[in-house]
Amino acid sequence: MQAIYCLHALLVGRSLGNERADQLAKDATQHGQPYSLIKLPKPHIKGLLRKSMLEEWQTSWKNGDIGRKVYNIMPSVSLRPTNWIREDVIFFSQHGPFPASLRRFHLSDSDYCSCGGIGTALHYATECIYTVSWHMRSQRQTSNKNG
Ligand SMILES: [Zn+2]
Repeated sequence: MQAIYCLHALLVGRSLGNERADQLAKDATQHGQPYSLIKLPKPHIKGLLRKSMLEEWQTSWKNGDIGRKVYNIMPSVSLRPTNWIREDVIFFSQHGPFPASLRRFHLSDSDYCSCGGIGTALHYATECIYTVSWHMRSQRQTSNKNG
């Protein structure tokens, strides 16, 4: 029951200010009694929890060590799905059937491509001699080629 009071104190505290929330949480812990008869509407509580969760997620995403390439493209977290297609996800996450990825997950002994380069998604998309016809081109290269 104290946990509920503490949660309530946290939620109310978001509305009232941190000092007040700390005091309310302390009261609830020490006395085990409801500190307040304030009833918050359920959508308001859900909104506060969602905001708190998103802030924590954003901090974790900003300060994390993994997924930095995706972070550079999408620095903000969101509950809305991206409109990335499967190939986008594989390319930007580097989680796909590439030697470098397979080696990272201990599914292969080597991260080398058959051409001798390191087999990353970027390698196949830009420099591998075996995938030249699928290479990505810059806007300038494409417009020069088309006249
Ligand atoms: Zn290659």
